[in-house]
Amino acid sequence: MKVVVLSGGVGGARFLLGVREHFAGTDADITAIVNVGDDMWLTGVRIAPDLDSIMYALAGVNDTERGWGRAGETERVSAELRAYGVGWPWFTLGDLDLGTHLTRTHYLREGLGLAEATRRITARWPLGVRLLPSTDQEVETHVHTADGVMHFQEWWTRHRAALPALEFEYRGVVDARPAPGVVEAIGAADVILVAPSNPVVSIGPILAIPGIRAALTAAAAPVVGVSPIIAGAVVRGMADACLTAIGVDTSADAVALHYGSRTNGGLLDAWLVDETDSAGIPTLSAAGIRAAAVPLWMTDPATTAAMVSAALELGAQPGS
Ligand code: GDP
Ligand code: CA
Repeated sequence: MKVVVLSGGVGGARFLLGVREHFAGTDADITAIVNVGDDMWLTGVRIAPDLDSIMYALAGVNDTERGWGRAGETERVSAELRAYGVGWPWFTLGDLDLGTHLTRTHYLREGLGLAEATRRITARWPLGVRLLPSTDQEVETHVHTADGVMHFQEWWTRHRAALPALEFEYRGVVDARPAPGVVEAIGAADVILVAPSNPVVSIGPILAIPGIRAALTAAAAPVVGVSPIIAGAVVRGMADACLTAIGVDTSADAVALHYGSRTNGGLLDAWLVDETDSAGIPTLSAAGIRAAAVPLWMTDPATTAAMVSAALELGAQPGS
């Protein structure tokens, strides 16, 4: 069984823990195609937050209390950088985390692509999931606001998504190509899952890479999405600010309709909503998206694995 998952960072990582749990003990081959829109150069190093969030979570070395970064992290280097007035004072780079960024930068400086750099970095741990960046090119999300245009990280971390966003720009996307292995993985997949990640700044930038959407449209495998919205709320985080900016309601149905039905050139064959959102199922069916309702709270890998089973079952049903 070949499984492809489109994923952002922390939410995607929780989902992937469930995917890995569901397939534990089988010979399933799991590939995550990961957003690079949050990536940036800072203090001379290349930072890839979504790839690293997934790697740390699957390796079991993530900080579960804080919700991001490495467990047992220290910030001595960040304190020095601050003293020199380098970097962003509101963006802390942990010492262990910097080890990852230095390693990535080392490989990039040697001329390797991000996909190959990621393959070498992730080889350190038995993750059980192959991580592929969506593209080797630098495609960074920038946010247009009334106060100017800024990198997504500045909007999200410094301003806590509180400055109304006028537009999300995936800078560099027109010249980008899918990373080596991405189109092949989509073409060979038995099922393609869309993690309950941020639709605008995690999944959106993946779909925007020229060639990825076409590969998904042409894929033989069913595409099944899982709603990141439960009962009109984003569960964790500030994704509602992103949805509002692109004119999409914070609801499970609205996100599915935003992704669209594959029968009409959209992304989805099927969509899993939370039990509390079952009222929208007929609307989605009418729009060509097969839907079902199950509990969608990713409280632990076993609970998430049950959600993944439901997504796989829904994907395996005959087309609507
Ligand atoms: P980021 O890149 O670290 O922001 O993470 P993602 O984009 O992968 O995922 C963030 C999204 O995950 C949030 O916007 C939430 O809507 C969603 N999310 C977080 N926890 C849960 C959960 O327990 N269940 C569901 N269905 N969605 C969740
Ligand atoms: Ca992210």
